[in-house]
This record gives sequence, C-alpha cells and structure tokens, in this order.
Amino acid sequence: MNGDPLLRERYERLAARLRAACHAAGRDPGEVRVLAVSKTIDTAGVLELAALGQRAFGENYLQEAQAKIAGCALERPDLALEWHFIGPIQSNKTRPIAEHFAWVHSIEREKIARRLSEQRAPGAPALQACIQVNASGEPSKSGCAPGQALELARAVAALPGLRLRGVMAIPEPAADYAAQRAQFAAVRAVFETLRDAGLAVDTLSVGMSDDLEAAVAEGATIVRIGTALFGPRTRSAQLRPLT
Ligand SMILES: *Cc1c(COP(=O)(O)O)cnc(C)c1O
Repeated sequence: MNGDPLLRERYERLAARLRAACHAAGRDPGEVRVLAVSKTIDTAGVLELAALGQRAFGENYLQEAQAKIAGCALERPDLALEWHFIGPIQSNKTRPIAEHFAWVHSIEREKIARRLSEQRAPGAPALQACIQVNASGEPSKSGCAPGQALELARAVAALPGLRLRGVMAIPEPAADYAAQRAQFAAVRAVFETLRDAGLAVDTLSVGMSDDLEAAVAEGATIVRIGTALFGPRTRSAQLRPLT
C-alpha cells in the first residue's frame, strides 16, 4: 500500500494549513473537520489515507462510490469509514445514497429529501443532512436559492429518516481572498438564518483545497478537500460524466 509517496506529506501539510487558518481566525482547530474528497481515487488510495488516520470520505459519483464503499468494507471491515455524498442527486438515485452513506450534503429539493428519508432503513441512524445553497444566485449553479433555504431546511428537519445538520455550498472560484470571503459570508448568513429560526444546525460545509482559509474565517465546520490531499485529478477523470 505504497501507491502515493506524497500522501503523508500532503496530509500533514493540510493539517498544518488548517491549524494556521484556525489560529488566524481565532478558532479551535477541533471545530473544523476534514472531509477527504475521494472522487476518482480508487479503493487502495482511500485505504492508504485511512491508514494515516482519515475516516470521513466524500464522493460525488454514485456508481464509483458504491464500488469503493463495498471494496473498503471487504478489505478493511475493522475500519469505521464515514461516507458522505456530496454530488448532485437525481431522484431515481436516492435509494443507494440512503442505504450506503452516513451523510448527504447536497439536498436541494424537498422531493429528494422525502425520498431519502423514506428509503433510509428503519433501524439505521438518521442520515445526517445538509441542504445545498446557491449563495451566489447564479441560475446555472446547484443548490436552492438563499430565499428558499429556510423552507427546505424546515422540511428536512421534519423528516424521520434525516437529521438536519446545516448548509453546504460550492461558491464560484474567486480570484482573491476577499472575494472568497464575501461568498462564504453569504453562505454563513443563510446558516445563521436557519439557526436564528430555531433549527438545531451545527454544520457549515464550505471550503475546498484553494479556499479553505477564507472558509474557516467564515465559520466552516467541514472543509471538503480533494486536490490538497490526493494531488491533481487527471483531466480524463475530471471529464467523467456525472452518474
Ligand atoms: C471535487 C469537490 C471538492 C474538492 O475539491 P478540491 O478543489 O479538489 O479540494 C469539494 N466539494 C465538492 C462538491 C467537489 O465536487
């Protein structure tokens, strides 16, 4: 299992970067979790990072994720890996998400939330759920409009198979730190609207490899990190169709 000689160095460098970002923001590093985004990374790569201590993994593509989740469970049944679904959700693809994941970050419609709740096995713990918000308001982007977030969050909170945890967003890549912070501030405002309305939210899932410092400064509690852990994804992998 020595596939990526740089993995440990990247893992340690990321931890140092995160500590520095928390320090700069006056926050406790224990408040921010790393979700390792393992899209395009194979089972061996996931297990290599798990061997360094990482437990939470994020996946965008359902078929790829299912194979990996099964592969990891087969090879290392002793490791309690926590799988998060972070990709777009089609309504005919909710069942495997409800069955195989601990978290879902990308709920943008009530219909999807209802299906996930109905399809969650009755004995299983609730599916931990974030609603995805399109804070920039651009019509092409995923996520509900900020003005619809409270209604969607209330609907999720009322479903027995789900537990509302908070808000996720994928802002536009921004040129500089100030622009990144402005976008994350808009997401944080949505999060605070939910909290102020009495919803028990504790999760702000924002920040990726290129903008985690700005996200931590604006209250991120989960940063979703791919490239800074696993290295650049290959071009062909980036062009994979969404499934
Ligand atoms: C790929 C992806 C990430 C990680 O992006 P990096 O820039 O590689 O860190 C985070 N969130 C989502 C939703 C993604 O699709």
